[in-house]
Amino acid sequence: MAIESFNPYTGKVLKRFTAFSWAKTERILAQAAQAAGTWRTTTFAHRAECMRRAATLLRERQNELARLMALEMGKPITDGRAEAQKCALTCDYYAEHAEAFLADEVIESEAQRSFIAYQPLGVVLAVMPWNFPFWQVVRFIAPALMAGNVGLLKHASNVPQCALALEKIFHDAGFPPTTFRALLIGSDLVEKLIEDDRVQAVTLTGSELAGSKVAATAGANIKKTVLELGGSDPFIILADADLELAAKTAAQARMINSGQSCIAAKRFIVEKPVVKEFITQLRAHLQAMRTGDPLDEATQFGPLARPDLADELAQQVNDSVAAGAKVELAGGQDKPGSALFRPMIISKVKPNQRAYHEELFGPVAIVLEAKDADDAVRLANDSRFGLGGSVWTRDVKRGEDLARRVESGAVFVNSMVKSSPEMPFGGVKKSGYGRELSHLGIREFVNQKTIWIG
Ligand code: NAP
Repeated sequence: MAIESFNPYTGKVLKRFTAFSWAKTERILAQAAQAAGTWRTTTFAHRAECMRRAATLLRERQNELARLMALEMGKPITDGRAEAQKCALTCDYYAEHAEAFLADEVIESEAQRSFIAYQPLGVVLAVMPWNFPFWQVVRFIAPALMAGNVGLLKHASNVPQCALALEKIFHDAGFPPTTFRALLIGSDLVEKLIEDDRVQAVTLTGSELAGSKVAATAGANIKKTVLELGGSDPFIILADADLELAAKTAAQARMINSGQSCIAAKRFIVEKPVVKEFITQLRAHLQAMRTGDPLDEATQFGPLARPDLADELAQQVNDSVAAGAKVELAGGQDKPGSALFRPMIISKVKPNQRAYHEELFGPVAIVLEAKDADDAVRLANDSRFGLGGSVWTRDVKRGEDLARRVESGAVFVNSMVKSSPEMPFGGVKKSGYGRELSHLGIREFVNQKTIWIG
């Protein structure tokens, strides 16, 4: 894929970049490997000082960053600012807590003294998607740098300016330039990088296909991976739920980032007595949402990030409708080849349809009718994915019980799924493995070393 900034709202190419050659990439890798040897010897206090400066710069530059996101991938400007602020929060979080998270952990044993030491691995390669072009990277790089690792970023090919802006923030914050570099490369060079002995580990956020390819290469080379992949999160509404709140939140949860979020609610599983009313309310909320130029402060959802993504989503919906799904809210793609896609609701979604099994990465809500709570859990778990999920009921104890039965990396009761620095984030099943954020995230790319004093 060409490395270029393409404005999905105007359909215009803004800037083209020449992809780095292997020779250039290899030079950067050599510098990173050298930097890994020295960066690991720096103190937590020094790393934290740089990280806090990065947080300040993220806040100071939030308008500029939000504008870049609006232009390169169509994110509404207000959402872009919120993303930059969340990145800053996460930098501050790891600046404050990394030392404690990685402190020696004394374990009682037969030894005079025994403990676990958490030591950096070295160069970690991050392969990242375009949907939260700053957040996805920061939640990797902030803990990685605080742990004493060095990061190389292969960002999605449609957000090169976001990649470069983030690289500049970390350099301006005082991190040696060789500790974090953005590689403007296509996915064709990723395999070669993983095979190189100077790369110690890989993290990928993206599709199942890219994840399985990257993990296969890493596996063949005995390298640790963390995979954050797709999701088709269930949003379970029981008959005793606060329906108004659930329907209002359902619309927000489906429409995060114009529906292009791994943890967007995608399958609305509703107990039979309230299904009709839920659809009526959800439809009203979705119809009330404003679309427009992502640079306009009033815009609530923009175009999809690329026209081909809208084409693919339209095809998934059309195939499902042809196989029996019912359109409850007719929106969809403006015209073939356009990135603009208006919210849709489809019901009567059955296992013979694509919408039942596949992730719909855009503003299409699927409604599934459940006979009772057990049936709702059965439907929720009848998915290859297991990233997040939510349960809506006035009986909190029952909600918690059901939360334990949903096969996913996170379940929220009476709240929409979101990520936050202090809670682990990741999936089960085909949504991936490993965790980001929290104390667990920073321990993914460290040598958890046993030290035994006899
Ligand atoms: P994608 O096609 O997998 O792209 C993600 C990254 O992987 C890009 O940098 C891409 O590079 C690279 N890539 C693609 N194929 C590759 C290959 N064969 N080898 C090495 N690298 C490869 O994903 P996407 O469609 O842009 O992103 C949407 C997907 O990401 C959805 O499934 C979504 O649910 C998932 N996602 C998951 C999370 C999570 O935390 N679990 C968060 C956000 C998104 P190019 O751009 O150069 O192709």
